[in-house]
Amino acid sequence: MRYGFVIDHNRCIGCHACTVACKEEHNVPLGVYRTWVKYIEKGEFPDTKRYFGVLRCNHCDHAPCIEICPTAALFRRQDGIVDFDSERCIGCKSCMQACPYDALYIDPGSQTAAKCNFCAHRVEAGLEPACVIVCPEQAIVAGDLDDRAGKIAAIVAQEKVRVRKPEKGTAPKLFYVGIDADLLQPARVAAQPAFLWAEKKPAQGLRARPSGSPAPAPAGAAREVYDVAHPAPWGAKIAAYLWTKSIAAGALLVAAVALALGFEDAKGLLHAVAPAVALLFTAVTSLLLIFDLKRPERFYYLLTKPNLKSWLVLGGYLLVLYGAVASGWLLGALMYGFVPPAVIGSAGVLAAAVACYTAFLFRQAKGRDLWLSPLLFWHLLFQAAAAGAAVLLLCALGLGAGPFVTAALGKALAFALAGNLSLILLEVYVAPHTEEGKQALDLLTRGPWKKAFWIGAVGMGAALPLALLIGSGFAGEGIPAYLAPPVLALAGLWIFEHLWVRAGQAVPLS
Ligand code: SF4
Repeated sequence: MRYGFVIDHNRCIGCHACTVACKEEHNVPLGVYRTWVKYIEKGEFPDTKRYFGVLRCNHCDHAPCIEICPTAALFRRQDGIVDFDSERCIGCKSCMQACPYDALYIDPGSQTAAKCNFCAHRVEAGLEPACVIVCPEQAIVAGDLDDRAGKIAAIVAQEKVRVRKPEKGTAPKLFYVGIDADLLQPARVAAQPAFLWAEKKPAQGLRARPSGSPAPAPAGAAREVYDVAHPAPWGAKIAAYLWTKSIAAGALLVAAVALALGFEDAKGLLHAVAPAVALLFTAVTSLLLIFDLKRPERFYYLLTKPNLKSWLVLGGYLLVLYGAVASGWLLGALMYGFVPPAVIGSAGVLAAAVACYTAFLFRQAKGRDLWLSPLLFWHLLFQAAAAGAAVLLLCALGLGAGPFVTAALGKALAFALAGNLSLILLEVYVAPHTEEGKQALDLLTRGPWKKAFWIGAVGMGAALPLALLIGSGFAGEGIPAYLAPPVLALAGLWIFEHLWVRAGQAVPLS
């Protein structure tokens, strides 16, 4: 049994009755929607035409929201309906990043994720969903797609049906008849400064256009007329988490590599300061993750109700394990003046894993094409190396370490910055991206954030410190030569993470 919907846009009159019936049935608060009707227009007055699109959860057969949900709050029922359990939800918003269709929202009352659940309680009672019953044009058909004698299976077999973003591989079970193609590809639609009947918040106004430029879309392009708000789920705390995690992982990554290469100078720095930095920033990283939850008091569900396919869970376990090994490293150094090679080796491996697991988490965020970049894994590794070398170099300067130590850390920082810079240029000019990924990248490189990106993240944050380090010939002594590069590198990384998180969410999904 596989329940699904057909929505016939040859019949839909855009009356919003389905939206209202859904709100009534599920007590959906103001400002959020389980189903809504988007309007777009084409042509110039007086030859204009309006098109409607009824949007909601697609009850995907391969639902990325289920895969990423760390507590299995989202699940597929035996009958194919994708349902949710708000009692398990911790409000991490990762499902909103995974869904390519903007189907989920955070309920302002419960602070947990919610979406269309096919009126599962009505289905169980032998009734049809509320939107089906209320539609005055019988434009919405619900039923079992596996029932070959049923109405919905006949429509799907006989009519020309379309689904949203089939290239995402989610196998949606919501089929459209007669829908305009631009309603299925929202990034093609020109944003407007205000909706019909509603003002838009500035954040909503920032939508990528086909050119990727903030200039108005060309005349004749479809333009949005009415839509509902879809604020970006992740903000400054997630950008800060990426930054602090880079430092946490990088500190022991650099220290472990240095010790493995037989670098025995500055034992205090590598044996005691590096694990202390790693522990401090791992703690801050974990706190940022917890306080970004809409239900932070439920964070322990990651342990008690885990979905072991979610990289949010696996990443959480890696952070805990890394913290334990870093503690062992620090204790060994402080209590016995000795850190066993096995501890150093496992800390180095775990540091790389902590740095890079976010690439797998972001791959599960299937809705955000920029984050699906195949280079992200390497970005994260080199960012961690740069952050770790920068922080250790600052610590070395603070502790008055000798020129041999500062020069070695300066070389490590230069190596990591060169890798980082190369990866950024590869990302912008060489790496393959989807159309939506290119639009997000265009926002960074040619759109509203281009100055912050090129001047702040690339120029000041990578190229300039690299040039300063190379220009010094790694022979400079002490603070004058080595203070600026690590400070600039850390500031550039901070800017990069904020831009990356924002741009990834700026291209509309619905
Ligand atoms: Fe619904 Fe989106 Fe999940 Fe698909 S990925 S089942 S559309 S919430």
